[in-house]
Amino acid sequence: MPSSELYNYIHGQPMPSPSAPWFEVINPATGATAYRAQSADDALFEQAITSAQQGQAEWAAMPMVARSRIISRAAQLLREHNDALAAIEVEDTGKPWQEASVVDVATGADALEYFAHLGQSLRGDQQPVGDDFYYTRQEPLGVVAGIGAWNYPLQIACWKAAPALIAGNAMVFKASEETPRGAIKLAEIFTQAGVPNGVFNVIQGAADIGRRLTTDPRIAKVSFTGEVSTGKAVMRDAAGSLKSVTMELGGKSPLIIFDDADLEQAVSGAMLANFYTQGEVCTHGTRVYVHESLYPAFVEQLLHRIQHNVVVGDPMDPGTNIGALISKAHQDKVMSYIRQAQQDGAVLRCGGQTVHPEGFENGYYVAPTVFTDCRDDMQLCREEIFGPVMAVLTFNDEQDVIRRANDTDYGLAAGVFTRDIQRAHRVIHQLQAGICWINAYGNSPVEMPVGGYKQSGLGRENGVEALTAYTQTKSVYVGMQPIDSPF
Ligand code: NDP
Repeated sequence: MPSSELYNYIHGQPMPSPSAPWFEVINPATGATAYRAQSADDALFEQAITSAQQGQAEWAAMPMVARSRIISRAAQLLREHNDALAAIEVEDTGKPWQEASVVDVATGADALEYFAHLGQSLRGDQQPVGDDFYYTRQEPLGVVAGIGAWNYPLQIACWKAAPALIAGNAMVFKASEETPRGAIKLAEIFTQAGVPNGVFNVIQGAADIGRRLTTDPRIAKVSFTGEVSTGKAVMRDAAGSLKSVTMELGGKSPLIIFDDADLEQAVSGAMLANFYTQGEVCTHGTRVYVHESLYPAFVEQLLHRIQHNVVVGDPMDPGTNIGALISKAHQDKVMSYIRQAQQDGAVLRCGGQTVHPEGFENGYYVAPTVFTDCRDDMQLCREEIFGPVMAVLTFNDEQDVIRRANDTDYGLAAGVFTRDIQRAHRVIHQLQAGICWINAYGNSPVEMPVGGYKQSGLGRENGVEALTAYTQTKSVYVGMQPIDSPF
């Protein structure tokens, strides 16, 4: 496959089409076209589904121990190719190499490894009922769909594929148009590891291709990562054939810093919770509530560390810790949020502008931005920006800050920094969020379930429950006595 062209990946191989349309993929750090990718058309879509049906039948018939061995091998291959895969993620997303080289591929491999082992725990149940008995089987759903966002292309594909495949399903994955390569690389690795053809097919294209998947009655489930509004559209479409859905959506998460917090740790947490992956992380804690007594010292240290420790530039430079935003359109969107925040009276303390590093003048960079004097009702504090924009708010009463933190339709994540162990748990237990951190922010080991409360999602990825979500329970009643029939 020439590196300048990317095809759909169907039935264990790249699948070029003489007629399907092409789209260009931009390197966000340079603004230049990196390569072109072929979208799926009707014929490729049909091929992907038919191949997945065939692959699924073969895969589900294999013993769990064989599936587990193959998925473990894929995890090992991911780790062996870590640097090459991380470089692809950097080029497609604009994120810093210093993150991608240690997080993106490794956490994807963790998911494959974890579910490869967890698969062995997938078993049924049996119980006597008088002389009769019943037993249950956890059967695969069949062909399922994964639809991914652009911020962690390879990791998202791994997190969806790992539980789906080990449970005996096949997956047709639609990557984001902005980052189509990560999922293709995973598909190649699955093939190399021995996953049968068709078990993991990748189709490319925009929303219309996603809709083909969500509306197709041959797809049993959709696991979606993306915006809340898109998630609602996907659920509406999935309802037409009553598919089950897993929804990993957006957030506007609160990070609460109490007066007894370790200041340096709290500032580190707030910076991670806003500037990691240049702000493009769904769980980011973008409403930072700081206790009034700690506020002056917090802001002073925060601004000092931004001024001295932030390096915006070539994402492949290991020293860079802030990369480029995904696209020009997204950069414009983030800048319009910044302008609106200023008009609404928030005080800009740093950043607030696009950046044009030497050699990357046309990249889509935005400087890490901090606003203080924010109010809960500002657009800045209500809507997900998905860029490096932190809103700092103050509080002095525990119950009041909990109420304010919960006053949102989102419920993805939340964080608390305090040295008071009872307060930490008391507050976290009252926060309406699915993923919470105490004196930490952003850690997401594969053992820990992740997903949102309220409009931030449905279902969970990772952890034990993600596996059963890719199965359906069959109950089998076994009669041991002659039937007692009134007829
Ligand atoms: P979008 O919702 O715009 O897109 C997500 C995916 O859905 C893309 O592959 C997109 O295709 C596709 N799509 C768009 N419209 C439809 C449709 N009607 N039917 C089916 N598929 C469709 O999200 P972004 O890619 O912009 O990602 C950013 C969002 O993702 C943020 O809100 C972020 O919070 C959320 N997110 C949530 C995570 C979580 O785990 N909770 C993790 C990461 C991100 P295309 O891109 O080609 O148009």
